[in-house]
Amino acid sequence: MTAKSMEDLVSLCKRRGFVFQSGEIYGGLKGTYDYGPLGVELKNNLKNAWWRAMIYDRDDTEGLDSAVLSNRLIFKHSGHETTFTDPLVDCKKCKQRMRADKLLVPGKCDFCGSTELTEPRDFNLMMKVNIGPVVDENSYAYLRPETAQGIFVNFKNIMDATSKKVPFGIAQIGKAFRNEITPRNFIFRVREFEQMEMEFFVKPGEDEKWHKYWIEERKKWWLKQGLSEENLDFEVHEKADLAHYAKACTDIVYKFPHGVEELEGIANRCDFDLGSHTKDAVELGVKAKVLENKDSSSKLSYTDPYTKETYVPFVIEPSAGVDRGALAILNEAYTEEELENGDKRIFLRLKPHLAPVKVAIVPLAKNNPQIMEKAEELRDRLKILGIGKIVLETSGNVGKCYRKHDEIGTPVCLTVDFETLEKNPETITIRDRDTMSQIRLPMSEVINYISNFFKYV
Ligand code: ATP
Repeated sequence: MTAKSMEDLVSLCKRRGFVFQSGEIYGGLKGTYDYGPLGVELKNNLKNAWWRAMIYDRDDTEGLDSAVLSNRLIFKHSGHETTFTDPLVDCKKCKQRMRADKLLVPGKCDFCGSTELTEPRDFNLMMKVNIGPVVDENSYAYLRPETAQGIFVNFKNIMDATSKKVPFGIAQIGKAFRNEITPRNFIFRVREFEQMEMEFFVKPGEDEKWHKYWIEERKKWWLKQGLSEENLDFEVHEKADLAHYAKACTDIVYKFPHGVEELEGIANRCDFDLGSHTKDAVELGVKAKVLENKDSSSKLSYTDPYTKETYVPFVIEPSAGVDRGALAILNEAYTEEELENGDKRIFLRLKPHLAPVKVAIVPLAKNNPQIMEKAEELRDRLKILGIGKIVLETSGNVGKCYRKHDEIGTPVCLTVDFETLEKNPETITIRDRDTMSQIRLPMSEVINYISNFFKYV
């Protein structure tokens, strides 16, 4: 099941502390959001799952964390200064500005419905910042609009430091900034967001095989994060819609509450990126159409240690959004059901590894020192498993605690009650979020049960 509307998600996110409007007490700042106590856990869990799949589970990749503030020459030579634009139209009637290719109804103003729109013109999405004490034409840098360029300009550093052999990839997670003309749909289209990007370098001629491989791999990964087959699809870009350097691009699209849109793009970018940042592109036989680069001090080529062949590697780029991923996952997990007594239950059917709170320990009587002592002991024994956030839930009665943890997607609640104290050995009630079924296990087995439940698969 999924959320019925974006409002359901926005309301749950605010109520429970996943996502807040940024700077809300001052009226907010359009296109920016703050992730609350549960949102930061969900995002970290998603990023960790990606890092694990991209770095720890493989032998052919390395990680990177490059600077957000970027030398403007990076984005001059990457082509962003001239081509990283969206088509902008103005409404002649209400004066609002919109992205021409994302109008809710083509040819009509999103705000007042007028059809009197200006001709589209290019609007550059990059954010400039001033660096240092002097303000002049040469004192600015860019806040990167994608993490990818940080990888390309570190290609040689990483090759020299790690002696990796092609094919191999460099992965990075980090913030990106775009001056979106019309940020909208909650955390779907924002001006500050996070990306999870992999640049996978391959031998020219092997690119199509690797492109196919990554399209399949990435879909499998999203399924592992709990997105369902029926809400995921591929959208293959037509040749005419491709960036001039790209050979092919397939988007993984998801059925968000506001419509089917891009979650991740997987592009075959040929040798355009390394070719643009390298010196001596002509001499190196770069195949993509690139401008001569007189600023770069480095040759970004690769020499095969066995055949001694030198070439500029092609790049396959799976590029995903953390915020869009979190939105898709929340949407997919959102479940409403009617209970036998007619009450409505909302719960988040999150995969255990993504759940912000892993286990809630619920003491039945908060004023009973023996029950509290047992609950605290259990909490401490679970904390050292290192599986994530364990909470001792002391707010409200048991029913309220269960409802709260259902709504935030806590997979397991452990209840310490009077029977716990009476039984020898002591027993604990384990309540499952999805089925609400309960079993009792001796305390010593509970630790094993939880450890297995959250085992990485
Ligand atoms: P769109 O067509 O929706 O603007 P894009 O094709 O420009 O997206 P890419 O440049 O391919 O996006 O960026 C890779 C990923 O980064 C996207 O698939 C998306 O998940 C994420 N992303 C891009 N722009 C935004 C944004 N403004 N807000 C949130 N996430 C974004």
